[in-house]
Amino acid sequence: MVKLDFHPSGRHFLQIPGPSPVPDRILRAMSLPTIDHRGPEFGALGQKVLGGMKQIFKTRHPVVVYPSSGTGAWEAALTNTLSADDHVLMYETGHFATLWQKMAARLGVSTELVAWQGEDAELPGAPSWRRGVQADLIEARLSADGAHRIKAVCIVHNETSTGATSDILSVRRAIDAAKHPALLMVDSISGLACVDYRHDEWGVDVTVSGSQKGLMLPPGMSFNAVSPRAIEATKTARLPRSFFAWDEIIEMNKGGYWPYTPNTNLMYGLSEALDMLLEESLDAVFRRHERWARGVRAAVTAWGLPIQCVDPSVYSPVLTGVMTPRGVDADALRKLIYERFDLSLGTGLGKVKGRMFRIGHLGDSNDLTLLATIAGCEMGMKIAGIKLSGSGVQAAMEVFGETAAAQAVGVPQRRASTV
Ligand code: PLP
Repeated sequence: MVKLDFHPSGRHFLQIPGPSPVPDRILRAMSLPTIDHRGPEFGALGQKVLGGMKQIFKTRHPVVVYPSSGTGAWEAALTNTLSADDHVLMYETGHFATLWQKMAARLGVSTELVAWQGEDAELPGAPSWRRGVQADLIEARLSADGAHRIKAVCIVHNETSTGATSDILSVRRAIDAAKHPALLMVDSISGLACVDYRHDEWGVDVTVSGSQKGLMLPPGMSFNAVSPRAIEATKTARLPRSFFAWDEIIEMNKGGYWPYTPNTNLMYGLSEALDMLLEESLDAVFRRHERWARGVRAAVTAWGLPIQCVDPSVYSPVLTGVMTPRGVDADALRKLIYERFDLSLGTGLGKVKGRMFRIGHLGDSNDLTLLATIAGCEMGMKIAGIKLSGSGVQAAMEVFGETAAAQAVGVPQRRASTV
């Protein structure tokens, strides 16, 4: 029999880039008794979370909530807006971009995956996995599509497999500059509620997200924020859809209900997460993640290891990809760190398997849990015989120490009700 909680003492360090550590306040909220999903209490809860999610996506338009992981919301975005053989332009920021492309292809959509093709000595097989989206490539491709065959442009905002956060506004501007009518669909599964995101202002048609990252909830809930143009596209979109069809859900959501049984206890959790995020203020939440990321990057730099993302203008505030020295299997190192220090780090996915590990800096964390995470990495690398050029713990302590006053502006506000 598998023992499900075998961490002998203290807390397990879940430092993967999602699922993120869930705050106790959210766990407690989810432990309330399950209620009738057709009753009046539920209607009020539904309306609260649907309204709150509009604030998180920064949209005035509907947000559709699914009881599924993020992959379901990817499928929903495609099937509600496209028909078989429609052509879509996708951009290879990393593993998740390629998975979304594979899904579109399986659904019968014609896909084109654009990638930056420059030189990269460290990762010659995947140079575009070290950068954000290059909007000029999108603009060039759309400008060449005079017949407007391309129906949608699909971009991953925060590429969780690499640690690069793409500039979505630059993609919107590229589409506009090419005077192209394609829909803009964005995966912000790991960006939302960690890094600034503006669905309406950036002219995004469908934003896909999930519960288990910046919203600090367990996995099992996902989202589509949808623009009026996206809703219009459903009228001609012919891909089969039933469970994921927006129309019935949006209609029933007016009363705070769903056409099927929603995941009630995750809704309690979402309600609490919204309270926490909005009490702190989204701007403070974004600053907090930026600051954590700065400390973690300082540690990686002090170790003398390459950060996977090579463009500082798109460093992710959510996670940092750390490349291990050539010949060092990053997964063997992760295993060692897990076994010795009860610390989970993200694995390298797809083209970077074994070449890197990922440190998540999101969810229920703080300066000290991140310092402990960095210490766990540092000790593990020393045990593995990796030669480090300096102490990452020391470097991160300096960043966190020097900027602690800035952080303190947010913390007392966030904790005010419990002090
Ligand atoms: N897109 C991104 C950017 C992700 O990080 C993930 C999961 O980590 C997914 C899509 C897939 O979401 P899920 O695993 O919840 O189905």
